[in-house]
Amino acid sequence: MKKIIILGSTGSIGTQALDIVRANPDKYSVVGLAAGSNAELLEKQAREFSVSAVALFDEKAAADLKLRLADTTTTVLSGADGVCYLASLDCDMVLNSIVGIAGLRPTLAAIDAGHAIALANKETLVTGGEIVNRKLKEKGVKLLPVDSEHSAIFQSLQGAPQGSLKKILLTASGGPFFGKTREQLQDVTVKDALNHPNWSMGAKITIDSASLMNKGLEVIEAVHLFGVPASQIEVLVHRQSILHSAVELSDGAVIAQLGTPDMKLPIQYALTYPERDMCFETLDLFKVGTLTFERADYSTFKSLPLCIEAINRGGLYPTAINGANEESVKLFLEGKIKFLQIAELNEKAMNLCENKTEFTVEDIFAADQAARQIVREAV
Ligand code: NDP
Repeated sequence: MKKIIILGSTGSIGTQALDIVRANPDKYSVVGLAAGSNAELLEKQAREFSVSAVALFDEKAAADLKLRLADTTTTVLSGADGVCYLASLDCDMVLNSIVGIAGLRPTLAAIDAGHAIALANKETLVTGGEIVNRKLKEKGVKLLPVDSEHSAIFQSLQGAPQGSLKKILLTASGGPFFGKTREQLQDVTVKDALNHPNWSMGAKITIDSASLMNKGLEVIEAVHLFGVPASQIEVLVHRQSILHSAVELSDGAVIAQLGTPDMKLPIQYALTYPERDMCFETLDLFKVGTLTFERADYSTFKSLPLCIEAINRGGLYPTAINGANEESVKLFLEGKIKFLQIAELNEKAMNLCENKTEFTVEDIFAADQAARQIVREAV
């Protein structure tokens, strides 16, 4: 039995991870679950999987959950510290599927406790990549990517000799607005932006996919995961979302991982690595028929080149653009700004970022807050 803790268990990745556990009751035991404020679903999950501890970031919601679980032996923790404490409890692996920079400290807490990490929370590496990598080395801890593209890259690299990676081919679906001009994007609505053609995901990452910010964050994530500069990462728009990314090796061989657009495969691979487990959905290439690859439109979808600029500049720039984006996406979802303003605000906050080349976790959170403030004041 593998003992796992799932952070962000009420979200899109978290609930799919629990589907995997449900399908394999003899292989996994869930010892801890955490979420933001959804006490109702966390209560259900805690009861179904008989977990020993749960945590909610929101203190009020945690108090409610404590009442709901009063008849059980489940410990209820609360606040940011409660989520970090939960991440450090005894287990074999922590799956971090919290959304946003809120995932960074729990990742660090899990590494400090010596736990292997399955990482969906890309914002952990975007903001704290250097610190996380240092800590992983220090503690001798493994971090396995869950993001489908990074899992595909990781899978494609299995067996590749050290030093043979020449280029990463990072695929993007292009989102709901592929092929649209800036004029056509002037008045798109939240509903239009949430209408992703291939993937069913949480709201924030769906908006990031529509703006291509998600691909920008993934370039930064790949730099930290695979140790290559952004110049060795090429973004390809692949509308079918079947080829989840590829690597080009020193002899010109291109190796890719293909599959249906279903996150269960990369989640499960991170949980079972290096073993392979059950199949949830078979890929039928005859049904797919054609695979196409096109260049991304960097002048319409500006957040992607901005992220590349941020990682090339280094320091706190990736944190600044990530924080600005979290805030601008929130404002867009609340109907307070237009879609194209997301990238404009991200650019503004990044340009005003007070950079440091050497920085601590506290500096990261200060830069995040400063970027959010710039966005709020600009609206
Ligand atoms: P969702 O919005 O569906 O879920 C987010 C989860 O995080 C929820 O459980 C939420 O709890 C929890 N949460 C939010 N804030 C906090 C907090 N401060 N402390 C603890 N928990 C918190 O997001 P997704 O599942 O779509 O995405 C999660 C992460 O995985 C993101 O980083 C995303 O980029 C990445 N990812 C997602 C993919 C997908 O297919 N969905 C694919 C690849 C990567 P509550 O429900 O209570 O708000």
